[in-house]
Amino acid sequence: MDVSKSTHSGRAIPFPARDALPFRPLTPRRGRLWLGLALSGGIGLLAWRRRSLTSGGALGAMATGTSIFGLGGWPWGLSLIYFFVSSTLLSHFHAREKAAIAADKFSKGSQRDLAQVAANGGMASLYALANASARSEALRETLQAGFVGALATATADTWATEAGVLSSARPRLLTTGQPVEPGTSGGITLPGSLASALGAFSLGLVLWLTGGLRKSLASLPVISLVSGLAGSACDSLLGATVQAMYFCPTCQRETERPIHSCNTRTQPLRGLSWCNNDVVNFFATLAGSLVAIVLHGILHVFSALRKRTLSRQEL
Ligand SMILES: [Zn+2]
Repeated sequence: MDVSKSTHSGRAIPFPARDALPFRPLTPRRGRLWLGLALSGGIGLLAWRRRSLTSGGALGAMATGTSIFGLGGWPWGLSLIYFFVSSTLLSHFHAREKAAIAADKFSKGSQRDLAQVAANGGMASLYALANASARSEALRETLQAGFVGALATATADTWATEAGVLSSARPRLLTTGQPVEPGTSGGITLPGSLASALGAFSLGLVLWLTGGLRKSLASLPVISLVSGLAGSACDSLLGATVQAMYFCPTCQRETERPIHSCNTRTQPLRGLSWCNNDVVNFFATLAGSLVAIVLHGILHVFSALRKRTLSRQEL
């Protein structure tokens, strides 16, 4: 009997066709989607119970985690976990001082809500969605650069905010160099900037390591460092210029809050009324990802040119 022929024809197989199965077989992607849902669901629930996320924030974290794990793959998912876990650990340093600054300055409390999660992780999720339908390796590498740029910006920004509190010197505005109160949008400090660089570089390193240390992707940590710093500079620049800032007449202080922690309705001071911290963060991650894509493209062209020169020398 010709076995190969009978299995090829399909009719000879005594099992129902794939479509007729009562369940859909678990492909690697579907497996990762479920795993991403389970992991981010667990982390989201834990963060919600610890009050570091609101219920909306926890749902946003689940959507971000599931899409990045399922559609981006293991290295992307592990990079996201690295961002989340490192930021959470850093937030425990000098937690009391930070809570005081947050209540005074930031538009929202220490609990992250849906808009904050979307502002930090939304761009990275969009790259994961695009990655799911990318057909060529070159396009996937480009999207990976965009992903690392977006997440590096979020990491750099979060690490800078958490470490900036440790600065003994007052932050200075990126635009004018004027000293400002700690927690002011657009203000930068030396420990904050060093933390930015470290956060962005280490994120790229995690992505490269978990992706199997491929020689062709060895530039990822540097792309991540440069794009993370560029995105975070963009964040400070927008924070110092177009972000809505208010003034509390009771406390005589600048704040991001339309209603201050003392319950006084604040007065508009500068910036665009619709442009809050979430909007600024979203545009910063967009800028960081575009810088990473351009950088990836330049490095790609350079390595192609070098290969051509080398092959000519061999002739
Ligand atoms: Zn006040």
